[in-house]
Amino acid sequence: MCGLAGVFNARKAAEKIYVLLHSEQHRAKDYAGIASSDGSNLFCHKGSGIVQDIFSQTDLDRLHGLHAIGHVRYSTVNDDPDRDNAQPLVYNGVALAHNGNIYNCKQLQPWVEELTGKLATVIDSEIPLRLFCQSQALTIEGRVFDAVKHLKGSYCLLILFDDTLVAVRDPFGNRPLSLGHDGDSWFLASETVAFDVMMVKTVRDILPGEILILDKSGQRSVYFDESGLRPSPPHDHQLAQCKFCLDYYSHPGSVVFGENVLMFQRRCGQKLWQEHPVASGNIVVGIPDSAIGHAEGLAREAGLYLERVLTRHHYVGRTFIEPSQGLRDTAVLRKFLPIKSLVEDGVVILVDDSIVRLTTLPGVVRLLRWLGAREIHARISAPRIFCPCFYGIDTPTKQELIAANLSNEEIARKAGVDSLEFLSVESFRSLVSNPDDYCYACMTGQYRIR
Ligand code: 5GP
Ligand code: SF4
Ligand code: MG
Repeated sequence: MCGLAGVFNARKAAEKIYVLLHSEQHRAKDYAGIASSDGSNLFCHKGSGIVQDIFSQTDLDRLHGLHAIGHVRYSTVNDDPDRDNAQPLVYNGVALAHNGNIYNCKQLQPWVEELTGKLATVIDSEIPLRLFCQSQALTIEGRVFDAVKHLKGSYCLLILFDDTLVAVRDPFGNRPLSLGHDGDSWFLASETVAFDVMMVKTVRDILPGEILILDKSGQRSVYFDESGLRPSPPHDHQLAQCKFCLDYYSHPGSVVFGENVLMFQRRCGQKLWQEHPVASGNIVVGIPDSAIGHAEGLAREAGLYLERVLTRHHYVGRTFIEPSQGLRDTAVLRKFLPIKSLVEDGVVILVDDSIVRLTTLPGVVRLLRWLGAREIHARISAPRIFCPCFYGIDTPTKQELIAANLSNEEIARKAGVDSLEFLSVESFRSLVSNPDDYCYACMTGQYRIR
């Protein structure tokens, strides 16, 4: 999962992007970059690490212009130590930032290289950038459509050149992208919490299949689906919004796909308790940070306290972003500072937002036992994840997914808990306003985006 930010027509646009990206740092911590435009020249600065370590004031001062885009990225298996792995990508006076995954990029590569020359990176996002620059279409929307019509997968794009900023969301709406407004300036971000940090008003979501063009003449939107450009949104197109953007990837302060993330997570916890109560339970523990909202909802429903048994270490990133299993294992132990007195002799209801590889839970359970928990009952606020995701989320093969290989009882034994229950897909569906608009592929094996 990556994070996008865009600013159109604002003084010190690059500094504003810096704050937006910093507010989206929870989405990815491996690379970050900003590209700006003064109307005729592009400027770009990027690197590996977190936003506050990559940009000095001098770097930001060199990013001239009233318009800018930015990107935070997590590393993937494709990263090449000898090539550019950070975004925005810049080519022929155009900068592009992408959140998503184009899974037919290897098939497209020979054709794109024949048209435009050897690609400079191993990033899938370079394909739409090259195709946008190569397009002979006379309108911006025509060039965008030429860039995306061959893509399979998921994408939100920000494209910057001259005095123009373009935002694109794929017709399935797999990832979120929102529009904000302040005075004469326009803002774009993957998460609305970034607007709140800037005290910028959230206007609306960029719609699935929307091309929003901001330029000197104002703003206008054109729409598209696989068959071509359209003057109005493609209402008949199936959507596949990533369900985990609500459970896990987004900050609880954001509104994603029209849902308030924290309120959604609390409803999940409430439902989890209704479906799988623990009669003897007396302490609720949520695994920080992403399961705290779910645990709050469960604790309220159960009439119990959510105890701060595990406090989050402030200087460690999210574990899923660690690229190798070895690093992930030690990261779990490095992540929490426990408060022992809260758990001694308790019957713990341990809430997590999801189980992927079963890295987190066994470590936490061992710790809680050592701290003195008498019983531990795990309640997982998402369904069993047993199929890989092809849309850019880091759950690549069935072998790595514990629920693809073990039953609930076997997972419980392996994790060392007294009982383990998951929220069902049906329960999730009952908790959002438009259940048919979501992707559930990793929980059902039914892939909407082909
Ligand atoms: P596990 O530890 O089972 O491999 O991964 C699940 C735990 O890590 C949860 O605490 C969740 O917050 C986080 N997590 C790690 N990777 C992912 C991922 O790719 N998707 C989801 N939904 N959660 C993840
Ligand atoms: Fe999200 Fe799962 Fe769909 Fe991937 S398969 S987009 S993780 S819901
Ligand atoms: Mg977690």
